[in-house]
Amino acid sequence: DNATLDEIPTDSVELISTSSTNHCNSPYYSEVMQQLRSIFKLKSFRTNQLEAITATMDARDVFVLMPTGGGKSLCYQLPAICDSGKTKGVTVVVTPLIALMKDQVDSLLNKGIDAFLWNADTPHPTVSHRIYGSGPKPRLLYVTPEKLDGSSALKNVLKNWHRTNTLARFVIDEAHCISTWGQDFRDAYKNLGILRDEFPGVPIMALTATANQITIDDIVTQLKLNNHAFYRQTFNRPNLRYFIKDKKKVVPQIVDYIRAEHVGHAGVIYCTGRDRCEIVAEQLREEGLSAAHYHARMSNSEKDTTLADWQNGDVKIIVATIAFGMGIDKADVRFVIHHDLPRSLSGYYQETGRAGRDGKPADCVLYFHAKDFNIICKMIKNDRDREQKQDQAAINRQIEAAREVVKYCKNISVCRRVQLLQFFGEKFSKNKCAGGCDNCIDHRPVVPEDVTAISRNAVQLLRDIERMGDNITMARLQNILKGSNLAELRGKGYDKLPLFGSAQDQPKELLEQVVQHLQFIDVLAPVAVQNGATSYHTEYIQVSQCCIC
Ligand code: ADP
Ligand code: MG
Ligand code: ZN
Repeated sequence: DNATLDEIPTDSVELISTSSTNHCNSPYYSEVMQQLRSIFKLKSFRTNQLEAITATMDARDVFVLMPTGGGKSLCYQLPAICDSGKTKGVTVVVTPLIALMKDQVDSLLNKGIDAFLWNADTPHPTVSHRIYGSGPKPRLLYVTPEKLDGSSALKNVLKNWHRTNTLARFVIDEAHCISTWGQDFRDAYKNLGILRDEFPGVPIMALTATANQITIDDIVTQLKLNNHAFYRQTFNRPNLRYFIKDKKKVVPQIVDYIRAEHVGHAGVIYCTGRDRCEIVAEQLREEGLSAAHYHARMSNSEKDTTLADWQNGDVKIIVATIAFGMGIDKADVRFVIHHDLPRSLSGYYQETGRAGRDGKPADCVLYFHAKDFNIICKMIKNDRDREQKQDQAAINRQIEAAREVVKYCKNISVCRRVQLLQFFGEKFSKNKCAGGCDNCIDHRPVVPEDVTAISRNAVQLLRDIERMGDNITMARLQNILKGSNLAELRGKGYDKLPLFGSAQDQPKELLEQVVQHLQFIDVLAPVAVQNGATSYHTEYIQVSQCCIC
């Protein structure tokens, strides 16, 4: 039977709904089931789908929180083609990506559902015919947020439908794009708050897979949802295993890992940076692995071909930026590797979530090096500079989000699932992880070590050196702490400093960790200094603030 996939997340941990309706007795049940089977050719609903559908047909506002691949689309596509609901007419769907919209509309048309996509490229005669014409209105109208924001023609049509009671509901898919808390913030989404004011009485349905509480509250407030039904289910993905590994020579590490665990399997490797994707894919091919790159700088046709090759198995491994993701629906992805640090935990969850949609075991491996945090911080600042938005609060939020990921990586004692799900506000008992993460598999005791003295000495040393008018790199600071017998240190007179060699008994790795951690908690900060008249920069380290002296 079809109980294969269903079942990514099964147990509903929380169902906050003010209605206590038994949904099977609802007046819509028979029509809904009939459409599910005859039009969508599906046998049964997944967790919360029927509940969300019933609530929107009851003309309520609805918030659906469902992991990627959970089946959010059906929650609005199905009620859109039913006639027994309390509101009648067109379901207006706002989603952020045109490519995705096209796919959805095409697949609806294939099912014989009258769906229409109205964006900047839609030819005017087509719009006139389908929207202004006297024929039947589409069941679903897909629009971009930009269109909704900027087109008075569309606004007038909607006003007209509203007046004639033929506007069934607004659907805001990927609703987290409304929130500046999330990484996918879209400018045009932020004006969706006007829907409630301009179209009073039209129910709104918001859907997202991004579940942290701040974002949820932000969505509810901005869309002005009213007494909404709220559906969420566990975000645990029992068939995924989570591993964090020390990033050393990362491509050889990845090659060894794939050869050992995933020969011939389909997988995704996420990298930051388009060039990096191309280089890594090339290196994998040199090792005889079947790999292709995917990023936003490729032409649409290149992207389509690459995607098709991967979907049908001609290419096994996609090396991609996060441009690769939303809307990808391949069931048998056996591994998702992070070559670089993800920018946020919710991004990490979504990206890893593309593994194992068929419910069979799959692995998520993240290669972590503390210095990736600095790289991300730089990228965040550069992005903002480029967009000329010097919004310091937004920068800080993004840096905070990256910091969460570092904390997650560095926490080698708490079950990965417990950590991840806690981030989404869900309590999880680690017994249920059942050896599904590195921290649950590794039973070595974690011994805490007090590094206050080393930290103080590091800061003091750096102050002494700054007083001498010098700049030093992170590596040099470690060598001075270690008291390394190096001519370059003696030449500068650093061996005469009172704290030179004050950590000579400590292992090098520990000193590196301490210095990195001091950066991570903002006690030390990197600064790039230009080398003479060249365009080269050296990255030095300075004391930025000190809370430990
Ligand atoms: P989301 O938007 O939540 O990421 P989608 O709506 O794209 O997920 O659905 C993911 C996949 O799940 C699609 O292939 C869809 O056909 C399938 N699906 C959705 N609902 C059901 C169901 N009740 N039974 C079986 N498959 C379903
Ligand atoms: Mg979706
Ligand atoms: Zn675990």
